[in-house]
Amino acid sequence: MSRQNSLNFSGGPGALPESVLLQARDAMIEVPGVGLSILGISHRSDWFANVVAELEGNIRRLLSLPEDFHVLFLQGGATQQFSMVPMTMAAGKTSPADYVHSGYWSGKSIQEANNSAPIRVLWSGESCGFKRLPHEDELIYSPDAPYLHYVSNETVEGLQFRRVLGLDSVPRVCDMSSDFLSAPFDAERFALIYAHAQKNVGPAGVTVVLVRDRVLQAAPDGLPGFLDYRTHAKAHSNFNTPPVFAIYVVLLVTRWLLQDIGGLEKMAEINQSKAAALYSALDDSDGFYVGKAAIDDRSLMNVSFNLPGQEIEQHFLAAASAAGFSGLAGHRSIGGIRASIYNALTLEAVDALVAFMRDFKQRA
Ligand SMILES: *Cc1c(COP(=O)(O)O)cnc(C)c1O
Repeated sequence: MSRQNSLNFSGGPGALPESVLLQARDAMIEVPGVGLSILGISHRSDWFANVVAELEGNIRRLLSLPEDFHVLFLQGGATQQFSMVPMTMAAGKTSPADYVHSGYWSGKSIQEANNSAPIRVLWSGESCGFKRLPHEDELIYSPDAPYLHYVSNETVEGLQFRRVLGLDSVPRVCDMSSDFLSAPFDAERFALIYAHAQKNVGPAGVTVVLVRDRVLQAAPDGLPGFLDYRTHAKAHSNFNTPPVFAIYVVLLVTRWLLQDIGGLEKMAEINQSKAAALYSALDDSDGFYVGKAAIDDRSLMNVSFNLPGQEIEQHFLAAASAAGFSGLAGHRSIGGIRASIYNALTLEAVDALVAFMRDFKQRA
């Protein structure tokens, strides 16, 4: 693989495993056993029905998903879920849905939800610059809320919840776009989970939605077909032309997780080692590299930090790029540096970045 690919620390679309890229390359010309390019295979073919079925099975296996979850592959990204969730679960309700405002992406979800249903923001980290997540005693949940929505990993700021939020009596909805399949989690405790593919599990174009059957049963009638989860559940994610290529690549990633990595426990161990290596590079830098997130809330996926001043940050990014590292510029909303260390980013790549950072600091 090209050195640049293996050193791609982009926040999204993120790096993919080399073995997956090689299979995707071959499929571009000819899918093994089919004889056609993946770009020209009918979404109504048996082959594609089997891809969807195997992918669904792999996700169920990786997460030990309870039976009553539907596994859907939708379009419109996580952003479309920002509207579909309130349209399905809160429209017309008198009690507002609870939202936790923990960073950039939960902020976006709140803006969109506001257009569809009554909502209430039960905590916002805005006044503290989204440097930390709420403690449990700061969260007064409403027992009457139709659901609670939060983002498990704030991709921009690099904040990740280490616990499940909310009351067991209120349906939990979670945007897991940037940490889905990075570690095991207890799906039993959620009503709806969504994650677009392009951070951690595939290319852009497909969003995985795990939704309980009882959520679909209680959905209002009269939603546009495309925005009604029931349409997609009935059609096995084949209502209109789905992104066949993106779904196929997510299948390859789940095979990689099951066969090469050995499951989500193993994946979590690797991700922890990577994050530990990078955070110790920050902590051992005598204040040269300063992490943005409070230590207890640091993300294992996105490591956001600053150097002493914007000028030296620009210099750092230029030197990193010259050394073959890419995707290290912080999100355009907050600047600084962000190293995203999704599943496919190897420990060797993280070690290379750590060595580069030590060297850069010495030379600065
Ligand atoms: C990137 C991101 C989004 C936006 O996803 P789109 O697929 O571009 O709509 C939403 N939520 C989180 C947590 C993200 O990281």
